[in-house]
Amino acid sequence: MAWRRFNYHDRQCLDRAAKENNPAMLLPWKFFKEVPGFGELYGGYYTQDEIRDVIQYAAVRGIDVIPEIDMPGHNGSACWCYRWLSCTQDGREPLCLGRNSTIEFAEKVYDEVFQLFPYEYVSIGGDEVNRRRWSECSECKKRIESEGLKDVSELQAWFTKKMEKYFNAHGRRILGWDEILEGGLSKTATVHWWRGDHPDVTQKSTSMGNEVVLCPFTYLYFDYAQDDNTLRHIYDGDIVPVDLTAEQLKLIKGMQGNIWCERIPTEARLEWMVFPRALALAEKAWTPRNKQNWDDFLPRLKAHLQRLEAMGIQYRPLQTKRP
Ligand SMILES: [Zn+2]
Repeated sequence: MAWRRFNYHDRQCLDRAAKENNPAMLLPWKFFKEVPGFGELYGGYYTQDEIRDVIQYAAVRGIDVIPEIDMPGHNGSACWCYRWLSCTQDGREPLCLGRNSTIEFAEKVYDEVFQLFPYEYVSIGGDEVNRRRWSECSECKKRIESEGLKDVSELQAWFTKKMEKYFNAHGRRILGWDEILEGGLSKTATVHWWRGDHPDVTQKSTSMGNEVVLCPFTYLYFDYAQDDNTLRHIYDGDIVPVDLTAEQLKLIKGMQGNIWCERIPTEARLEWMVFPRALALAEKAWTPRNKQNWDDFLPRLKAHLQRLEAMGIQYRPLQTKRP
């Protein structure tokens, strides 16, 4: 479903644009389209050629664009358009894991992703699944019984492992948010630690031999609101857990800043949210912890802000109030 009427987030953006007289919060006209029978809708999508273009553009700059196609939850648009995908067939996620047709659908979607994206890693997402629907579905209950699973958590793990085998057979490795730990995980999966309120995720994953990417929402969610203290909070944070052995530390793949754009309608707004937080993240990720020093960082940061200025990037100033 590429086009839609305004949702709650869109209305919030428009309210803020008006209230703050802030054009960075206005939904751009280029994302509106007149759809016969529906009126004016908001949205858009990439064609396969455009995806190839993005990959090419990134490649010459040394960047991999790792795709995430979230399953079995966070796919409301697919469930809305293909009603047979969900347990209740009423357009509400998640995918029904009791039906083989759903598994085939997932494989076909990933086939297309594998064809477009040339990288080793592909993310299955796997986060925030409403598993309660599975416990109310006769077909999912049948699957739990026939596969000898304990509960709905194990049903998701069954699906993730099945997809992982499919990924591996196509020469790919699976990535997923830390919920994929629940119900059991195979060693070759890489975990994104995002739930900052689950501090044991990295310890647990690496002790089982799984690789981890650090992106806890307590520090590295760049769509979260920021104030004059946010940058220092990120810089001084212990993002790498201190209780890991040398072997476990080797399994940490790196850090990642996350940003979700439900309430970021323009590039100007994106720049404001990302910079200068990305500069603090870069130093945290590339500098040994004992060499990280805020007072030392500050003058180098200010030099970078001048570069951002010259590039026309609309970063958030270090202080938004007059001293
Ligand atoms: Zn079901």
